[in-house]
Formats: sequence, C-alpha cells, structure tokens
Amino acid sequence: MSSSFCSPVVAGLVPYVPGEQPNIDKLVKLNTNENPYPPSPWVVSAITEAARHGLQFYPDPESSALRQAIAAHLGLAAPQVFLGNGSDEVLAHAFFAFFQHGCPLLMPDISYSFYQVYCRLYSIAVQTVALADGLRLQVADYACAPDLSVAGVVLANPNAPTGIGLPLADIEALLQMHPQRVVLVDEAYVDFGGQSAIGLIAAYPNLLVVHTLSKSRSLAGLRIGYACGQPPLIEALERVKNSFNSYPLDRLAIAGGIAAFADQAYFEQTRNAVMSSREGLALALEDLGFVVLPSQANFLFAQHPAHDAAALAADLRALGVLVRHFKLARIAQYLRISVGTPTQCDRLVQVLQALLQAGA
Ligand code: PMP
Repeated sequence: MSSSFCSPVVAGLVPYVPGEQPNIDKLVKLNTNENPYPPSPWVVSAITEAARHGLQFYPDPESSALRQAIAAHLGLAAPQVFLGNGSDEVLAHAFFAFFQHGCPLLMPDISYSFYQVYCRLYSIAVQTVALADGLRLQVADYACAPDLSVAGVVLANPNAPTGIGLPLADIEALLQMHPQRVVLVDEAYVDFGGQSAIGLIAAYPNLLVVHTLSKSRSLAGLRIGYACGQPPLIEALERVKNSFNSYPLDRLAIAGGIAAFADQAYFEQTRNAVMSSREGLALALEDLGFVVLPSQANFLFAQHPAHDAAALAADLRALGVLVRHFKLARIAQYLRISVGTPTQCDRLVQVLQALLQAGA
C-alpha cells in the first residue's frame, strides 16, 4: 500500500481489526463482547443534562470528578487512577510509557490481539509464551532471569478470547518474578466473575491494572477506560497523555461515567443477568456437542469436534447471528460468542441446532 507521503513506519504497521458493526435489521450481535443491556438510565439522564450546559467549553483535562468517583468506588486515592478514551487508549499509553526498554515484552501467545499491534507501533519486541493445555496460562512459564532482560509482562485476566481467569495468587507470583518491570493486568472482563488485582496495588509498585466501562457498565459507545497503580506509574501515564491529547474524555463521557458508578444496583443487576445467561448458554452449547472453555467473562470460547468453526461462523452470519472467529493457529476451530440476553442466546442455540442438524 503506502503512499510516498507516508513515513516508512506506516508501511510496517499491522493494524488491529475490530469485530464488525454492521447495520443489519434484527441482527443477533454476539461478536464484540458488548453488554447486551443498555446503560443505566442514570447515565442517559446525566449525558442529556451535560449536553445542555457547557459544550462550548473544553472538558476538565484531568476528568477529576470521574477520577474521584472511580477511586472512591475501588478504595483508592485519585492519584492512583488514570483515565483515557477507552481502555485501548490507556493500554497504548501504558505500552509507550513502560515497555520500551529494548528487550522483549512477555505475553501469552493467545491473548488480546491489540497488544501486538501496540508493540509494532512503538517498536517493542515481543516474546510470546505459549498457553498450556486447555489454553490455560501457567505463571511458571514467565520466570526468567535476570529480570531486566524483559520489558515487562502484559496479560488479560480473564484472558481474551479464552475467558479463563487466573487466581490472584498467580498474579502475585508474576509481580514477584518481575519486580523491576511493570506487570500490566488488563481486567476488561473482571466484573463477570474474575478476581481483581486492585487490592495488590498498595503492595506492588510494578502493578498496573486496566479497566474499561465498555463491558460491565454497558458503555462501549462512550469510550472510557482507566488504569490503576501507584502514583509514579500514573504520573508517567499523565506525561504521555499530556504529550498526545489533553482532553481524551469529553464532557458527555465524564458525566455518563460518573452516573454509571453511582448506579451500583443497575450494575449488579445487569452483570448478574449476563453471568446467569452465560451458564445457561454454556450448558445449551454443550448439549449441542460443543466443548466450552470455563469462562469468567461475558463471552464463551467454544469448539465443535465435528464442525468447522469458520464455516459455522459464516453460516450463522447468513442467518442473522454474528459471532467472532479468529483465523489464528491454535484457535482456528473456536468460536467466540458474546453472552447476549436470554432471547438472543435462545436464538443462537436455535439457529446452531438447525445448522448442525443440516450438517453444516
Ligand atoms: N482489553 C481487552 C482484553 C478487550 O477485549 C478489549 C475490547 N476489545 C479492550 C481491552 C478494549 O476495550 P475498550 O477500548 O472498549 O475499553
């Protein structure tokens, strides 16, 4: 590709490809791990109110009120929280701030594929560590000495796209293995049954935990993510952010984010609904012959021993059900299925049943 106007680095980029967002009527959309429920009505009121006042002014560059609300919610202090335009942006700034050491960053071979995209963007070498049997992460595989020969460790917990969660003791072991480097734990899906490492922040200056409001708070469309860690890590992220964009969160996002944390009852209700649908969907898929990995996230990773995953995904799409398929070694026979409402899950199972019977 690449026009002669571009710097050579652009030709070498391998951009992330997000799941499709098609405009198809009555689509059952289970391909991008969004929440099937809308955000709290409090969020919509807060955004509407915010839209009435002050859009002619820039937002607070520090998003102080939202930062304070998040800190209070997590039992942290505001200087331990950094906000960005979706956790993707927070991750990008963290990669820039902490992993450019001229040695490789450790990450699982199967994980959130944006990590490798940032590495390419910022010329960070990558050393992938193969997940063990059953696509499980084994922390012992991350040991290496001397510590300064790696740039750090990044992992998602629960992992994506497997959905498998790691116990906190494993995260603590990783932090102790690499005391000189940042261990970034991406907890995008933690509210659906995972164990959060937020409580370890006080003890580990090398821990950075990243969260998003896109999943458990139903705000993928508003773009809010944040990182938590000890103040020196947060200050480093601020330096990067303030060298890039002073206002990553607009006024509507700040107002909506605060309201999302205020309505704790709605959060509990919707995440419990998703977790309960997940268990029902896993059983229904198993009844259809799928092997389903144990998930602590809002999606399932499943394969059918007798049916090709790519073909199933294409056939499902033709019948109005979108799931995600990754054409990647080791996971090419899996489908990643976001947990929908009970009605959406029923529809998926119905369509799958028909496809399997027809011998798709
Ligand atoms: N981390 C993981 C593991 C994800 O799956 C996603 C969603 N694609 C993100 C981070 C980014 O989420 P967002 O930018 O919407 O906060």
